[in-house]
Amino acid sequence: MLSPPANWLPQAPLEPLHLDWLSNANIDVAILRLDQIDPLISGNKWFKLIEHLKAADLAGAEGIISLGGAHSNHLHALAAAGKRFGFATVGLLRGHAQETPTVNDLQAFGMQLHWLGYGGYRARNEAGFWEQWQARYPELFPVPEGGGGLPGATGCTQLKALACQQLEGLGWSDYDGWWLACGTGTTLAGLVMAEAGEYPVYGALAVPDDHGVAQQVERILEEAGVNAPTYELFDASRGGFAKVDPLLLEFIAQTEQVSGIALEPLYTGKALLALKQQVEAGKFARGTRLIFIHTGGLQGRRGFNLKT
Ligand SMILES: *Cc1c(COP(=O)(O)O)cnc(C)c1O
Repeated sequence: MLSPPANWLPQAPLEPLHLDWLSNANIDVAILRLDQIDPLISGNKWFKLIEHLKAADLAGAEGIISLGGAHSNHLHALAAAGKRFGFATVGLLRGHAQETPTVNDLQAFGMQLHWLGYGGYRARNEAGFWEQWQARYPELFPVPEGGGGLPGATGCTQLKALACQQLEGLGWSDYDGWWLACGTGTTLAGLVMAEAGEYPVYGALAVPDDHGVAQQVERILEEAGVNAPTYELFDASRGGFAKVDPLLLEFIAQTEQVSGIALEPLYTGKALLALKQQVEAGKFARGTRLIFIHTGGLQGRRGFNLKT
């Protein structure tokens, strides 16, 4: 079995977020700490894996083979899950062999690594790519890059219940929407599926507009048969994926100092900064209550020099 035992339920605390720019605008934000679901398995990448692991169990597989870069949060969560629940993992990596804190962890978790180079990695979407790997590892189940697609989104529908069961503890009777970082949009699509038109989901795009996130989200929602999806996307990329600027780093450092909450610069830092900009531009009425999802990714932060 690759799926975790039934008694392993990830818990993510939902906490009030107190920041000046929120209280000035009279906006209440609660933060769902997916960075805290487990000491090793962190973030939205766990939720994106759940359905893939179930499918692997159904197929009688003994482990998972997947792809990612040398700082990949997806491979990190997968390798950690493999170690925790005792299944084999193989990672196909972009580029040439290098040592990063992430790669060291993957190896320590027992993931078998293959470096594909850049050209070899680009071939991942070509017909026949998986055949050679399935011939080599017939007992492993392939999971697409990042754990995306409808199975990935389906696992993320659980996030609504995870937050809702903690609302009362916050003294909230209700909320008005979600705010989260988007890369492929899979996690957002899962929330939109869970809401089924009830409350809007606001996505802060960590990648530039031309990456086709809106189309990917539409494709998943269509496949899932969601009728009246309510979501909105905002550009939060600040010039490109993984582009980092002094204002962003200063914002992350200040937020951590004031709230004690650590953010990383690729997704969560950009998402919260984009929320600040929208709040200050008057996007939300006074009294609005939002749930901000901390999608994790802090392990990847070690690859950055965050001194400010
Ligand atoms: C992968 C990732 C995201 C983006 O998730 P998608 O489902 O691809 O939109 C957001 N935040 C963090 C920390 C991530 O690792």
